[in-house]
Amino acid sequence: MTAATTATRGTTAAVAVVDTLAGFTARLDDERRDGRTVGVVLTMGALHRGHASLVRRAAEECAVVAVTDFVNPTQFADATDLSNYPRTLDADVEVAAASGASLVFAPPVDEVYPGWPDPPATTVSVRALADRWEGVSRPGHFDGMATVVVKLLAAAGRCRTYFGEKDFQQLAIVRRAVTDLSLPVDVVGCPTVREGDGLALSSRNTRLAPAERAAAAVLHRALRDGSASLAAGGDRHAVERAMAATVAEEPLVTLDYAALVDARDLEPAADVSPARPLRLLIAAAVGPVRLIDNLDPRRSA
Ligand code: AMP
Repeated sequence: MTAATTATRGTTAAVAVVDTLAGFTARLDDERRDGRTVGVVLTMGALHRGHASLVRRAAEECAVVAVTDFVNPTQFADATDLSNYPRTLDADVEVAAASGASLVFAPPVDEVYPGWPDPPATTVSVRALADRWEGVSRPGHFDGMATVVVKLLAAAGRCRTYFGEKDFQQLAIVRRAVTDLSLPVDVVGCPTVREGDGLALSSRNTRLAPAERAAAAVLHRALRDGSASLAAGGDRHAVERAMAATVAEEPLVTLDYAALVDARDLEPAADVSPARPLRLLIAAAVGPVRLIDNLDPRRSA
């Protein structure tokens, strides 16, 4: 275990950085034995204000907060995408500390997957929920994600874990896996942090050229136009047409899907009756970068 000392707002916060599963588990077991509640934020590093908002929320609600910082190879179909993923551990430790975390777990790949590059024999697959939307264009992605989330939460033990609504399908899959596998974990969904023009913060945004970055704001505009269509009495088809029409105005952006779904099972919304919780989902390619976003059409948040 190494200890980093980080200055935050005039005070000094000590953050322990551990790189073994046993060390991660032992540390959180100690905290619980001392009567402290544990919050866990799972990340792939390259921390930005969106991640920081999860850590701050965890720190408001839990006595100790751990951040995991692990670029999970099993959720990447594309080896180049994996090798291009930004790795900024030192800066991440600073962000985690400044946001209220006291522990960062940053393991090497073969600590999480013994025998790597042989893939694990046991994986977690959440049927139906993982097959739609992002699952169509990224086969295997959600199995890799669900597998590492379950491994990390099993190592963390009893806790509250904080996930961004930014990745709405991921959040639904994690909730379902935690329920189905009876993990002693409360999953908390947190609002999406956005730039001034509405673009959801993402580590992928840094790969956008300036013109693409400006064009990317169309995703949020499309979600708002979908919300306006619903408020004006539109059915699912009208809402989806409104979103697609907005994206079509932006030549640098190619729509993958724009959908109005039931917020619980992510199936296309059969109707838009007030009793049905709804979500707008959107995915598009902006130059070489694939971006996703979503919105509660009744709250515009
Ligand atoms: P990642 O490291 O990108 O896989 O994300 C780690 C966690 O941060 C996930 O729960 C994401 O949903 C969450 N997250 C990513 N971007 C944002 C954002 N803009 N606002 C809120 N949470 C986010």
